[in-house]
Amino acid sequence: MKIKANDPKLSTWVEIPENSDFPIQNLPFGIFKTDYLAPGAGVRIGDLVLDLTYMYENGYFDGLELPAGIFNQAYLNDFMALGKAKTREVRNRISELLSAENDELRDNFAVRELSMIPMDEVEMLIPVRVPNYTDFYSSEDHARNVGTMFRDPKNALMPNWKHLPVAYHGRASSIVVSGTDFHRPKGQTKADDAEMPSFGPCRLLDFELEMAFITCKENPMGTSVSAKEAADYIFGFVILNDWSARDIQKWEYVPLGPFLAKNFASHISPWIVTMDALEPFKVAGPKQNPAVLPYLKTEGSLHYDVKLEVQIKPEKAEPTVVSNSNFKYMYWNVNQQVAHHTSNGCNLQVGDLYGSGTISGPKPEEFGSMLEITWRGEKPVKMKDGSERKFIQDGDTVIMSGHAVKDGVRIGFGEVLAKVLPAN
Ligand code: CA
Repeated sequence: MKIKANDPKLSTWVEIPENSDFPIQNLPFGIFKTDYLAPGAGVRIGDLVLDLTYMYENGYFDGLELPAGIFNQAYLNDFMALGKAKTREVRNRISELLSAENDELRDNFAVRELSMIPMDEVEMLIPVRVPNYTDFYSSEDHARNVGTMFRDPKNALMPNWKHLPVAYHGRASSIVVSGTDFHRPKGQTKADDAEMPSFGPCRLLDFELEMAFITCKENPMGTSVSAKEAADYIFGFVILNDWSARDIQKWEYVPLGPFLAKNFASHISPWIVTMDALEPFKVAGPKQNPAVLPYLKTEGSLHYDVKLEVQIKPEKAEPTVVSNSNFKYMYWNVNQQVAHHTSNGCNLQVGDLYGSGTISGPKPEEFGSMLEITWRGEKPVKMKDGSERKFIQDGDTVIMSGHAVKDGVRIGFGEVLAKVLPAN
């Protein structure tokens, strides 16, 4: 499918800073507010936000038959629920308005002044109301690293791992947007040599570098979505930091899996980069061997070449890069994740968040968590300020970013960052 707004030859009259994640080929959607504007939908271009409520109210979307008030809302759920065809039309129309040869906005300085707001004047809010959160475990290198550390290098992957995309149901209430500081969690842990467990601040706080997709369509309970149909259900992607308390996790996870070690905070980047915008950056995934069951079979390139980076910024020091990974390292693709998730008749809802699982690459510098980077704390990371990190300390800000490059076009997600405050 050819998507007009993705054309690498498109240029815009808007000034785009060098190496920006937000050229005219991206146009991600988010929710913003300002000192004078209530929360509403916007699209990012360069370092500006295009106010979609203003554009709608002034007739720039006439002819698209959008419901009244569709952008004048605190969440994108209703907009996304219009479906891929309609939201694609909106993105194409925005692309048209911002393209170099179109004068509708370009030459109307009064409208530009009112509809395009500098990023430093806006506050980004969580873009969707998240009804459900599922976290997959779809990176083979991550699963192997963890299996090697905690079980047996020879049987690092559980017997089911290459037959189904393993996942668990997470907590939606504590999913927050980038920039939301949070307190170190407290919990019950038990040291190997201790007789009894104890309660206190988590000592092994970790990040998990993930991508997540957000759904825009519901399947009725009792029905399944095929891997082929999955793209109709996925609106777009964000970067996800799925914070994890390793010491709490180690003691609590048997036999039902993660609980309090994972549900205290998960941060997402504020701009939803549409699945459409990522279309040109699709690449083939790894060959799946053994062959998967028929309902999980997919064809073509369904992985995404998105470069990912993690930095740790100590309280009063420069950030240090601790990981460079790539979304393409997934074993399972998102179409398979949707097909598997609904194979039993489970109903997806609009706004659901589906995490990839920690994205680790084959090399140590590509590992997506401190657990792996420092190998359970055995190999601390040297920071630029001379300090060392085994896990994340109070006052640290973890910054994740991601972008894709092809044919001279770079599109990206901006950042998801969060600062760890001392335990309450
Ligand atoms: Ca995770």
